[in-house]
Amino acid sequence: MASRNTTAKDASFRGNKQSLPQKPCAACGRPMTWRKRWRNTWDQVKYCSDGCRQRGGAG
Ligand SMILES: [Zn+2]
Repeated sequence: MASRNTTAKDASFRGNKQSLPQKPCAACGRPMTWRKRWRNTWDQVKYCSDGCRQRGGAG
């Protein structure tokens, strides 16, 4: 079992930045760029940070 060639995947991910989705923060209006940590919750993300979430805090 010596088949670990997963580095190619990471390499191909570079240079793909511009294709990442964006949307404005509901509190400060600054554009947020898709992040890996949001890959499962992107539709629910409304604020760029915890600070904005507390400020905007509408539901
Ligand atoms: Zn914000």
